[in-house]
Amino acid sequence: MKHTTDLSFRESVEVMFNRAVSLMDLPAGLEEKIRVCNATYTVRFGVRLRGEIHTFTGYRSVHSEHMEPVKGGIRYALSVNQDEVEALAALMTFKCALVETPFGGSKGGLCIDPKEWDEEELEQITRRFAYELIKRDLISPSQNVPAPDMGTGEREMAWIADQYQRMNTTDINAKACVTGKPINAGGISGRVEATGRGIQYALREFFRHPEDVNLAKLSGSLDRKNIVIQGFGNVGYHAAKFLSQEDNCKIIAVIERDGAVINQDGLDIEALYAHMSKTGSIKKFSGGTFQTNGSSVLEMKCDILIPAAIEGSINLLNAERINAPLIIEAANGPVTAGADDVLRNRGTVIIPDMYANAGGVTVSYFEWVKNLSHIRFGRMQRRQEEARHHLLVEELNRVMEASGLGTKLSDKFKEAYLRGAGELELVRSGLDDSMRTAYQHMRELWHSRKDVDDLRTAAYLVAIERVAESYRTKGL
Ligand code: GLU
Repeated sequence: MKHTTDLSFRESVEVMFNRAVSLMDLPAGLEEKIRVCNATYTVRFGVRLRGEIHTFTGYRSVHSEHMEPVKGGIRYALSVNQDEVEALAALMTFKCALVETPFGGSKGGLCIDPKEWDEEELEQITRRFAYELIKRDLISPSQNVPAPDMGTGEREMAWIADQYQRMNTTDINAKACVTGKPINAGGISGRVEATGRGIQYALREFFRHPEDVNLAKLSGSLDRKNIVIQGFGNVGYHAAKFLSQEDNCKIIAVIERDGAVINQDGLDIEALYAHMSKTGSIKKFSGGTFQTNGSSVLEMKCDILIPAAIEGSINLLNAERINAPLIIEAANGPVTAGADDVLRNRGTVIIPDMYANAGGVTVSYFEWVKNLSHIRFGRMQRRQEEARHHLLVEELNRVMEASGLGTKLSDKFKEAYLRGAGELELVRSGLDDSMRTAYQHMRELWHSRKDVDDLRTAAYLVAIERVAESYRTKGL
């Protein structure tokens, strides 16, 4: 079906879901069960601030409980509404299924502009919101585990964890009630960077398949690819940083709310980040040219476009003019269903949100497991692994010397080989494996079924089939 007017985010998710299930053979009842959102709780609570009572509206939506706990972030933004939270919760269900994190899907939101309040006030508001959710088991290590999303981060997660602990003083697993916490409050190394890291691993995996790279009318590896990034928040910044520093990509433009900064030779991402942290804006950055009209920069010629800001930024108004042959959706829902049609017809390859930004929830899964096992990953094995490597290196050196080779293993090799894996290395390895495996499952369907002509439909098919299987096993 061709869409002539843009659909809302929620409608877009429905359309994409419908396109996928039309290619499946699910009983109508089961299809409907997977489609609907199980429950959405709306809360309005008052907090006394600045001498008067302010009322806030918040949501926690549970899309599917085929696995528990359910999982998904809490967003702080004035634009938060029930439809948006429900669409995001549905995406969480499919995202978790696709990357095999054993959770159902959920999402939360609070209608608030976090910039309007100071830290103490935000703590009071967050604790009160958390209190309302905790007392209804909408935050709980075994039932519903929130995480950061737009407008929230480690700080808010630490307040939520502490609030839960105060209300459940004898729960030994209390820390597992929320993920994305600071390390000293039970967090895990590599969670802050996880979504950006996931984007990097997803692109690396994409470029391991020349057939897929050809479909995007590109060639070769990630080396020197030109990238435009929209949104320089946690996800956009980390993706830009890793891709430029470790894969030799050129970030030729970064688009933010108030404009864009361009440099065809590649922006210095750390310098831009330092500038933005200091001034609150990308304006006046000396390492590039500033342009007020950010939306036209989205249409700039580049190899890879990374929308990492809000939903619907690529829509029917600009889809025809998007110049990138490859789009990787770091944000949730950045391409509307109508724009998706246009881009698909033009042969643009889109690596869909459900897969591309799943790095966050994947590392959240590791954090939850760490909290339940009460021990840091690698703590038991690391030194033992190092000792065994040491034995091997010593023995090799001895054999080489005895056989008169007159050469020794290089210091560089020894240093790299002898180091046992700590938590961060293990987290990265687990994330890399999850991203590679999920991509392979998607592409298998993409290439093997004639009726599947894009990665998004393939992603939905893999995910919906897993959710369906889980319901069938339960006897539904
Ligand atoms: N808010 C993130 C997302 O949309 C992370 C969710 C999580 O870690 O549970 O995927």
